[in-house]
Amino acid sequence: MSGTYRVNTVLPNCFDTIGEAPHWDVGSQSLYCVDIHSGGLLRWDASTNTVDKAKLNGKIGFAIPRESGGLTIGLNRSIASFHFDQQELVTLAEVDPGTENRLNDGKCDTTGRLWAGTLGPSLAPGVIQMGCGTLYSFSRDHTISSHLTKLDISNGMDWSNDNSVMYFIDSMTFSVMAFDFDITLGSIRNKKTVAEFQDKTCVPDGMCVDSDGKLWVAFYKGSRVCRIDPETGDTLLTINFPVTNVTSCCFGGKHLDELYVTSSAYNIPQEEITHKQPLAGSLFQVTGLGVKGRVSNNFQG
Ligand code: CA
Repeated sequence: MSGTYRVNTVLPNCFDTIGEAPHWDVGSQSLYCVDIHSGGLLRWDASTNTVDKAKLNGKIGFAIPRESGGLTIGLNRSIASFHFDQQELVTLAEVDPGTENRLNDGKCDTTGRLWAGTLGPSLAPGVIQMGCGTLYSFSRDHTISSHLTKLDISNGMDWSNDNSVMYFIDSMTFSVMAFDFDITLGSIRNKKTVAEFQDKTCVPDGMCVDSDGKLWVAFYKGSRVCRIDPETGDTLLTINFPVTNVTSCCFGGKHLDELYVTSSAYNIPQEEITHKQPLAGSLFQVTGLGVKGRVSNNFQG
Protein backbone atom coordinates (compact mmCIF):
# COMPACT_ATOMS: atom_id res chain seq x y z
CA MET A 1 0.00 0.00 0.00
CA SER A 2 1.22 3.46 -0.90
CA GLY A 3 2.22 5.75 1.96
CA THR A 4 1.67 8.87 -0.08
CA TYR A 5 -2.05 9.30 0.10
CA ARG A 6 -3.62 12.72 -0.04
CA VAL A 7 -6.84 14.07 1.51
CA ASN A 8 -8.70 16.43 -0.84
CA THR A 9 -11.80 18.48 -0.11
CA VAL A 10 -14.23 17.73 -2.94
CA LEU A 11 -17.25 19.74 -1.79
CA PRO A 12 -16.61 22.11 1.12
CA ASN A 13 -19.56 22.54 3.52
CA CYS A 14 -21.98 20.64 1.29
CA PHE A 15 -23.80 19.12 4.27
CA ASP A 16 -25.78 21.40 6.60
CA THR A 17 -26.31 18.58 9.11
CA ILE A 18 -25.00 14.99 8.98
CA GLY A 19 -23.50 14.00 5.63
CA GLU A 20 -23.85 10.26 5.25
CA ALA A 21 -24.22 7.07 3.24
CA PRO A 22 -21.91 7.77 0.26
CA HIS A 23 -22.66 5.49 -2.68
CA TRP A 24 -20.58 5.51 -5.86
CA ASP A 25 -22.70 4.92 -8.95
CA VAL A 26 -20.44 3.31 -11.55
CA GLY A 27 -22.91 3.83 -14.41
CA SER A 28 -23.04 7.60 -14.07
CA GLN A 29 -19.64 8.06 -12.37
CA SER A 30 -21.48 10.00 -9.68
CA LEU A 31 -21.52 9.95 -5.90
CA TYR A 32 -24.84 9.95 -4.07
CA CYS A 33 -25.02 10.96 -0.42
CA VAL A 34 -27.56 12.25 2.06
CA ASP A 35 -27.75 15.10 4.56
CA ILE A 36 -29.80 13.34 7.23
CA HIS A 37 -31.55 16.02 9.26
CA SER A 38 -32.18 18.46 6.43
CA GLY A 39 -33.77 15.77 4.24
CA GLY A 40 -31.09 16.54 1.69
CA LEU A 41 -30.00 14.38 -1.23
CA LEU A 42 -26.80 15.15 -3.15
CA ARG A 43 -25.56 13.80 -6.45
CA TRP A 44 -22.03 14.82 -7.40
CA ASP A 45 -21.05 14.14 -11.00
CA ALA A 46 -17.30 13.52 -10.98
CA SER A 47 -16.77 14.11 -14.70
CA THR A 48 -18.39 17.56 -14.71
CA ASN A 49 -17.82 18.41 -11.02
CA THR A 50 -21.45 19.48 -10.71
CA VAL A 51 -23.86 18.87 -7.85
CA ASP A 52 -27.60 18.22 -8.02
CA LYS A 53 -29.57 18.58 -4.81
CA ALA A 54 -33.04 17.59 -3.69
CA LYS A 55 -34.80 18.25 -0.42
CA LEU A 56 -37.36 15.91 1.11
CA ASN A 57 -39.70 16.32 4.02
CA GLY A 58 -38.09 14.13 6.67
CA LYS A 59 -34.82 12.59 7.71
CA ILE A 60 -32.93 10.57 5.12
CA GLY A 61 -30.71 7.64 6.12
CA PHE A 62 -29.54 6.41 2.72
CA ALA A 63 -30.06 6.80 -1.02
CA ILE A 64 -29.15 3.91 -3.32
CA PRO A 65 -29.78 3.74 -7.08
CA ARG A 66 -32.54 1.36 -8.06
CA GLU A 67 -32.06 -0.98 -11.00
CA SER A 68 -35.56 -0.14 -12.28
CA GLY A 69 -34.74 3.58 -12.19
CA GLY A 70 -34.39 6.34 -9.63
CA LEU A 71 -33.28 5.79 -6.06
CA THR A 72 -34.34 3.73 -3.07
CA ILE A 73 -34.22 5.92 0.01
CA GLY A 74 -34.76 5.60 3.74
CA LEU A 75 -37.03 8.50 4.71
CA ASN A 76 -38.06 8.57 8.38
CA ARG A 77 -39.61 5.07 8.84
CA SER A 78 -40.27 4.56 5.13
CA ILE A 79 -38.39 2.79 2.41
CA ALA A 80 -39.34 4.79 -0.64
CA SER A 81 -38.48 5.28 -4.27
CA PHE A 82 -37.45 8.73 -5.39
CA HIS A 83 -36.77 10.01 -8.86
CA PHE A 84 -34.23 12.80 -8.67
CA ASP A 85 -35.18 14.40 -11.95
CA GLN A 86 -39.00 14.14 -11.64
CA GLN A 87 -38.90 14.70 -7.84
CA GLU A 88 -41.39 11.82 -7.55
CA LEU A 89 -41.66 10.04 -4.17
CA VAL A 90 -43.45 6.69 -3.68
CA THR A 91 -43.50 4.79 -0.38
CA LEU A 92 -42.61 1.10 -0.81
CA ALA A 93 -42.74 -0.09 2.81
CA GLU A 94 -42.75 1.09 6.41
CA VAL A 95 -40.81 -0.22 9.39
CA ASP A 96 -41.13 0.18 13.17
CA PRO A 97 -44.85 1.13 13.09
CA GLY A 98 -46.15 3.29 15.91
CA THR A 99 -42.70 4.64 16.82
CA GLU A 100 -40.73 7.79 16.16
CA ASN A 101 -37.75 5.71 15.05
CA ARG A 102 -36.07 6.43 11.73
CA LEU A 103 -34.06 4.53 9.17
CA ASN A 104 -30.33 5.12 9.34
CA ASP A 105 -27.54 3.67 7.17
CA GLY A 106 -28.37 1.14 4.42
CA LYS A 107 -26.56 -0.86 1.75
CA CYS A 108 -27.32 -3.57 -0.82
CA ASP A 109 -25.70 -6.98 -0.94
CA THR A 110 -24.41 -8.38 -4.24
CA THR A 111 -27.86 -9.82 -5.10
CA GLY A 112 -29.34 -6.32 -4.84
CA ARG A 113 -31.17 -7.03 -1.57
CA LEU A 114 -31.34 -3.90 0.63
CA TRP A 115 -30.20 -3.97 4.26
CA ALA A 116 -30.98 -1.02 6.54
CA GLY A 117 -31.36 -0.44 10.24
CA THR A 118 -33.26 1.93 12.47
CA LEU A 119 -32.57 3.94 15.59
CA GLY A 120 -34.74 5.47 18.29
CA PRO A 121 -36.03 9.04 18.49
CA SER A 122 -33.83 12.02 19.36
CA LEU A 123 -34.38 13.05 22.97
CA ALA A 124 -32.27 16.19 22.40
CA PRO A 125 -29.88 17.18 19.58
CA GLY A 126 -27.32 14.40 19.42
CA VAL A 127 -29.03 12.33 22.16
CA ILE A 128 -30.79 9.21 20.92
CA GLN A 129 -33.04 6.85 22.83
CA MET A 130 -31.04 3.64 23.04
CA GLY A 131 -32.11 0.05 22.40
CA CYS A 132 -34.90 0.87 19.93
CA GLY A 133 -33.29 -0.10 16.63
CA THR A 134 -33.76 -3.08 14.32
CA LEU A 135 -31.71 -4.31 11.37
CA TYR A 136 -33.94 -5.20 8.43
CA SER A 137 -33.51 -6.57 4.96
CA PHE A 138 -35.82 -5.61 2.12
CA SER A 139 -35.86 -8.17 -0.66
CA ARG A 140 -36.22 -7.63 -4.37
CA ASP A 141 -39.92 -8.59 -4.04
CA HIS A 142 -40.27 -6.06 -1.18
CA THR A 143 -40.50 -8.59 1.65
CA ILE A 144 -39.20 -7.15 4.92
CA SER A 145 -37.28 -9.37 7.34
CA SER A 146 -36.00 -8.45 10.80
CA HIS A 147 -32.54 -9.75 11.74
CA LEU A 148 -31.34 -7.93 14.88
CA THR A 149 -33.36 -6.03 17.46
CA LYS A 150 -32.73 -3.74 20.45
CA LEU A 151 -29.92 -1.96 18.59
CA ASP A 152 -28.69 1.39 19.85
CA ILE A 153 -27.59 3.04 16.60
CA SER A 154 -27.70 0.76 13.55
CA ASN A 155 -24.89 2.00 11.34
CA GLY A 156 -22.25 0.81 8.87
CA MET A 157 -22.42 -2.53 7.10
CA ASP A 158 -20.75 -4.43 4.27
CA TRP A 159 -19.85 -7.95 3.23
CA SER A 160 -16.70 -10.01 2.69
CA ASN A 161 -15.59 -10.54 -0.89
CA ASP A 162 -16.82 -14.18 -0.90
CA ASN A 163 -20.14 -13.13 0.70
CA SER A 164 -19.63 -15.55 3.59
CA VAL A 165 -19.50 -12.78 6.21
CA MET A 166 -21.61 -9.70 6.91
CA TYR A 167 -19.94 -6.97 8.92
CA PHE A 168 -22.12 -4.64 10.96
CA ILE A 169 -21.68 -1.72 13.36
CA ASP A 170 -24.10 -0.92 16.17
CA SER A 171 -22.24 2.26 17.11
CA MET A 172 -22.60 2.23 20.88
CA THR A 173 -21.02 -1.23 21.13
CA PHE A 174 -17.75 0.45 20.01
CA SER A 175 -17.01 -2.60 17.90
CA VAL A 176 -17.44 -4.21 14.50
CA MET A 177 -19.49 -7.39 14.54
CA ALA A 178 -19.38 -10.17 11.98
CA PHE A 179 -22.02 -12.76 11.16
CA ASP A 180 -22.04 -15.85 8.97
CA PHE A 181 -23.95 -14.66 5.92
CA ASP A 182 -26.20 -16.81 3.72
CA ILE A 183 -26.61 -14.81 0.56
CA THR A 184 -29.25 -17.15 -0.89
CA LEU A 185 -31.53 -16.97 2.13
CA GLY A 186 -30.51 -13.43 3.07
CA SER A 187 -29.86 -14.46 6.66
CA ILE A 188 -27.20 -13.87 9.31
CA ARG A 189 -26.17 -16.00 12.30
CA ASN A 190 -23.27 -16.66 14.71
CA LYS A 191 -22.40 -13.18 15.94
CA LYS A 192 -18.71 -12.52 16.53
CA THR A 193 -16.74 -9.39 17.37
CA VAL A 194 -13.92 -8.74 14.90
CA ALA A 195 -12.70 -5.38 16.19
CA GLU A 196 -13.23 -3.67 19.52
CA PHE A 197 -12.28 -0.04 20.10
CA GLN A 198 -10.93 0.98 23.49
CA ASP A 199 -11.35 4.73 22.98
CA LYS A 200 -15.00 5.28 23.97
CA THR A 201 -14.83 9.01 23.18
CA CYS A 202 -15.23 8.36 19.47
CA VAL A 203 -17.90 6.31 17.81
CA PRO A 204 -17.59 3.84 14.92
CA ASP A 205 -20.05 4.92 12.23
CA GLY A 206 -20.15 4.07 8.50
CA MET A 207 -18.01 1.37 6.93
CA CYS A 208 -16.97 -0.24 3.67
CA VAL A 209 -14.84 -3.22 2.64
CA ASP A 210 -12.03 -3.01 0.05
CA SER A 211 -11.03 -5.55 -2.59
CA ASP A 212 -8.48 -7.05 -0.18
CA GLY A 213 -11.27 -7.72 2.34
CA LYS A 214 -10.11 -5.07 4.80
CA LEU A 215 -12.58 -2.78 6.62
CA TRP A 216 -12.60 1.00 6.35
CA VAL A 217 -14.39 2.46 9.38
CA ALA A 218 -15.30 6.13 9.89
CA PHE A 219 -15.15 7.45 13.46
CA TYR A 220 -17.69 10.07 14.55
CA LYS A 221 -16.06 12.41 17.09
CA GLY A 222 -12.77 10.74 16.06
CA SER A 223 -11.63 12.84 13.04
CA ARG A 224 -10.53 9.69 11.26
CA VAL A 225 -11.11 6.70 9.03
CA CYS A 226 -9.20 3.53 9.90
CA ARG A 227 -8.36 0.54 7.75
CA ILE A 228 -8.85 -2.54 9.90
CA ASP A 229 -7.95 -6.17 9.38
CA PRO A 230 -11.04 -8.22 10.31
CA GLU A 231 -8.90 -11.32 10.85
CA THR A 232 -6.84 -9.75 13.64
CA GLY A 233 -8.78 -6.61 14.64
CA ASP A 234 -5.59 -4.61 14.04
CA THR A 235 -5.66 -1.08 12.68
CA LEU A 236 -3.53 -1.04 9.53
CA LEU A 237 -3.82 2.64 8.63
CA THR A 238 -5.33 5.78 10.16
CA ILE A 239 -6.32 8.72 7.97
CA ASN A 240 -6.98 11.98 9.78
CA PHE A 241 -9.41 14.64 8.61
CA PRO A 242 -9.66 18.33 9.58
CA VAL A 243 -13.12 17.79 11.10
CA THR A 244 -14.30 16.01 14.25
CA ASN A 245 -17.31 14.12 13.00
CA VAL A 246 -16.34 11.77 10.17
CA THR A 247 -19.38 9.70 9.30
CA SER A 248 -18.91 7.22 6.45
CA CYS A 249 -16.85 6.21 3.42
CA CYS A 250 -17.01 4.36 0.12
CA PHE A 251 -14.68 3.75 -2.78
CA GLY A 252 -15.29 5.41 -6.11
CA GLY A 253 -13.63 6.97 -9.13
CA LYS A 254 -12.88 5.48 -12.56
CA HIS A 255 -10.64 2.82 -11.04
CA LEU A 256 -12.49 2.51 -7.69
CA ASP A 257 -9.28 3.59 -5.97
CA GLU A 258 -10.48 6.86 -4.43
CA LEU A 259 -12.04 6.84 -0.96
CA TYR A 260 -14.96 9.25 -0.56
CA VAL A 261 -15.59 10.37 3.01
CA THR A 262 -18.59 12.25 4.44
CA SER A 263 -18.66 14.43 7.54
CA SER A 264 -21.10 16.22 9.79
CA ALA A 265 -21.67 19.83 10.86
CA TYR A 266 -24.66 18.88 13.03
CA ASN A 267 -24.80 20.05 16.63
CA ILE A 268 -21.44 21.86 16.47
CA PRO A 269 -21.55 25.48 17.72
CA GLN A 270 -21.05 28.01 14.92
CA GLU A 271 -18.09 29.51 16.76
CA GLU A 272 -16.31 26.17 16.77
CA ILE A 273 -17.03 25.68 13.08
CA THR A 274 -15.70 29.15 12.29
CA HIS A 275 -12.52 28.93 14.36
CA LYS A 276 -11.66 25.24 14.70
CA GLN A 277 -13.20 23.17 11.94
CA PRO A 278 -14.40 25.32 9.05
CA LEU A 279 -14.65 22.22 6.85
CA ALA A 280 -17.19 20.43 9.08
CA GLY A 281 -19.92 19.04 6.82
CA SER A 282 -17.64 18.65 3.77
CA LEU A 283 -17.16 15.78 1.35
CA PHE A 284 -13.57 14.54 1.19
CA GLN A 285 -11.68 12.30 -1.19
CA VAL A 286 -8.54 10.33 -0.39
CA THR A 287 -6.29 9.53 -3.35
CA GLY A 288 -3.02 7.63 -3.66
CA LEU A 289 -3.98 4.87 -1.22
CA GLY A 290 -2.94 2.08 -3.57
CA VAL A 291 -6.08 0.19 -2.57
CA LYS A 292 -9.19 -0.56 -4.61
CA GLY A 293 -12.76 -0.83 -3.48
CA ARG A 294 -15.65 -2.79 -4.95
CA VAL A 295 -18.66 -1.68 -6.94
CA SER A 296 -21.47 -0.34 -4.70
CA ASN A 297 -24.51 -2.53 -5.37
CA ASN A 298 -27.81 -1.09 -6.60
CA PHE A 299 -31.22 -2.15 -5.28
CA GLN A 300 -32.61 -4.79 -7.65
CA GLY A 301 -36.25 -4.49 -6.58
CA1 CA B 1 -24.09 6.69 10.17
